[in-house]
Amino acid sequence: MNLARPLARGVSRISLNDPTFSDLAGVLTGVKPVTYTDCSPGDVPQLKSLCDRLKLNCLPVEEFLSKRWYHLVQGKTIFLLGRDAKTVKAAALAWRSPENNERWASILGYPECCIGMYMKWLNTLGLGDDLVKMSFYNTKTTGPLDFKLNNIFNYSSRLASGNPKDRLRYEKFIEFNREKSFPSKHVIGWHPCAYDCPESLKKADVIFSFMERHAPAYAAGLREALARPVLFWDKYRYAFLEGRSAAGTVSCKGVAFPRSLLSQALYRRIAMCDTIKAGPRQADFYRGGVLFYSARAGVPVLLGFAADRGRPRGKGASRSRPCGKTGGVL
Ligand SMILES: [Zn+2]
Repeated sequence: MNLARPLARGVSRISLNDPTFSDLAGVLTGVKPVTYTDCSPGDVPQLKSLCDRLKLNCLPVEEFLSKRWYHLVQGKTIFLLGRDAKTVKAAALAWRSPENNERWASILGYPECCIGMYMKWLNTLGLGDDLVKMSFYNTKTTGPLDFKLNNIFNYSSRLASGNPKDRLRYEKFIEFNREKSFPSKHVIGWHPCAYDCPESLKKADVIFSFMERHAPAYAAGLREALARPVLFWDKYRYAFLEGRSAAGTVSCKGVAFPRSLLSQALYRRIAMCDTIKAGPRQADFYRGGVLFYSARAGVPVLLGFAADRGRPRGKGASRSRPCGKTGGVL
């Protein structure tokens, strides 16, 4: 990707992944003391040269600790990047043992509240609610949700390791979206504890401003992809919608990227309707004022991501859970 404003002398072009622009922006703005990235052997010289120019330490953590990690793509190795050499080494030592998960996450710059929620999810071994639903149920804001916290198709650290079904579904999702570079399509690289988490919003604003300053066209594309209402059934079944949502109602003009594992029948219904009303007990689909479909079992939640965020977090109850059976087959 070409940058409108170089990151440093001689850095006017970067790759979108390894590290993601989000992670790089996090480290360069100080939002993240350290970040980590997978790197193929052939790309190592390029990564090292980038770090030299940006005055970042670049530690091959597996070599440093003599510990190999599991890699989705064979041959890749993990590097830790950060401004301060001591902090990078501290991160490496924390990464070595799972008991230091929280410490590791904190050096990566994740807010404490979000780490707390993530640890709860880890304790379910991925068998409980997906992280997106956990964040949604913790959200108190009733208005639009800031697109910068949209993590729906960020599957990083969200796969249920040891669950072959989960892996299969993820691979199918990748296959469906092969043409798009979705692993980097997020503003924050962590999973927020709520879609109005003040700490995450603060950090997301800094990262996104950096993206806008250095790559305005890319930032606009990211906003375009993420600032959308989403009907969310579960981790792999959801629909990003063309249109706007307010107070549980979406004026729907069609379905947008990415293609999830939602059934063809549901995609067809969404594509045909002009209005969707989503409540805790059912989701109703209308065309020309006429109700033509009602989802009562397996009710989706509506996540109203938009370019402008809603009212700041106030007192009040969290989002209510749908009464219908979630995750059912429609
Ligand atoms: Zn949080």
